[in-house]
Amino acid sequence: MSYVDEVYDLVVAKNPAQPEFHQAVKEVLESLRVVIEANEEAYRKDALLERLVTPERQILFRVPWVDDKGQVQVNNGFRVQFNSAIGPYKGGLRLHPSVNLGIIKFLGFEQIFKNSLTGLPIGGGKGGSDFDPKGKSDREVMAFCQSFITELYKYIGADTDVPAGDIGTGAREIGYMYGQYKRLTGLYEGVLTGKGLTYGGSLARTEATGYGLLYLTEEMLKCNGKDIAGKTVVVSGSGNVAIYAVQKAQQLGAKVVTVSDSTGWVYDPEGIDVALLKEVKEVKRARLTEYAAARPSAQYHDKASEGTNQWIIKCDVALPCATQNELNLEDAKTLVANGVMAVAEGANMPTTLEATKYLQENGVLFCPGKAANAGGVATSALEMSQNSERLSWTFEEVDSKLKNIMVNIFHNLDAAAKKYGLDGDYVAGANIAGFLKVAEAMTAQGIV
Ligand code: GLU
Repeated sequence: MSYVDEVYDLVVAKNPAQPEFHQAVKEVLESLRVVIEANEEAYRKDALLERLVTPERQILFRVPWVDDKGQVQVNNGFRVQFNSAIGPYKGGLRLHPSVNLGIIKFLGFEQIFKNSLTGLPIGGGKGGSDFDPKGKSDREVMAFCQSFITELYKYIGADTDVPAGDIGTGAREIGYMYGQYKRLTGLYEGVLTGKGLTYGGSLARTEATGYGLLYLTEEMLKCNGKDIAGKTVVVSGSGNVAIYAVQKAQQLGAKVVTVSDSTGWVYDPEGIDVALLKEVKEVKRARLTEYAAARPSAQYHDKASEGTNQWIIKCDVALPCATQNELNLEDAKTLVANGVMAVAEGANMPTTLEATKYLQENGVLFCPGKAANAGGVATSALEMSQNSERLSWTFEEVDSKLKNIMVNIFHNLDAAAKKYGLDGDYVAGANIAGFLKVAEAMTAQGIV
């Protein structure tokens, strides 16, 4: 049996009931096959793959907090410190009812390669909780965040592990967490990223993931003789990634006609009104029904009653920016039938393995999230640099660094794919380029 298959079977056996983690490992290992086979003896002897798929440390903890009625609530807290070969653990904190250890492990595993691809010195980690910030008061969110950090502060630090935002964790949550960390440790250090601008945050961090997605998509299209300007774009999601993806796509001359949330999606043939979207989502923290109510050109579609989603809308470019496995084989078939030319993942693993394969086999340019959405974590690393030198860079400076990073990521993964005879397979290119740096650093540092 090949080393890749052996290790994949081991992952399934040792991590039961964690399908998302299995999926992430399968995608990576499958596309590394050619590299692994070329180095099989050395990698096997060092158990490199076994070490790669096993987190260095997993922290599971209780998060008790008191709600507004005086009732004690208990959530599960997680931080998976997956790999520190190339830098301190770095990755977001997801707050969503679906969070469990398998989800955090899939995200942490992806983060290793994503962070490596940025070219910056950051290892891979991820954390979060099954706490749902939706519908909670500010006081309840603060109570949760303080309790969460009261346990987690022991394991994080500016040079050890630097958490950040993800689904459910935005500026408000990072602020409460930062305040509690500072209170407990007495340290004013860059331990979290995505901080507010008045206390060590970086300009352009809020925009970074969405902007980065478009910088990379633009480059991918350009290198394939196409242009983003004038194209119709379908976006899913309406959180931080989606909002700034819509904004940058419009700035680059594309027309974005959809956004979605967990219950419905909006089709706005005149183009999404970003100011209104921001008002509804960032200020009011409301649902997209409010967007549709305020915008005559928008049609609201309820997912459950209609059984539809935004992928049925004809487009040139599709940008899944919501969550894992939101674009399945049926959706991929619809997109291809409607003539889609490119799919780039703003979310982490939004496309199922079967859908990815179908898109690639049908000539669609496909860029995986670990490359396409790396602008967020890359800009977090820039925030860490600014915190270390106790300076703040201008928006233009950060944005231009972000653009360079995204363009470089695309060229690196394109080159890696070509080098291994997999021209145009950007999934393989991203995995290979991300893996090689981490593997070399792990090998150099001995058996740790
Ligand atoms: N949660 C984001 C991601 O998936 C950002 C992580 C960070 O900034 O550390 O990459």
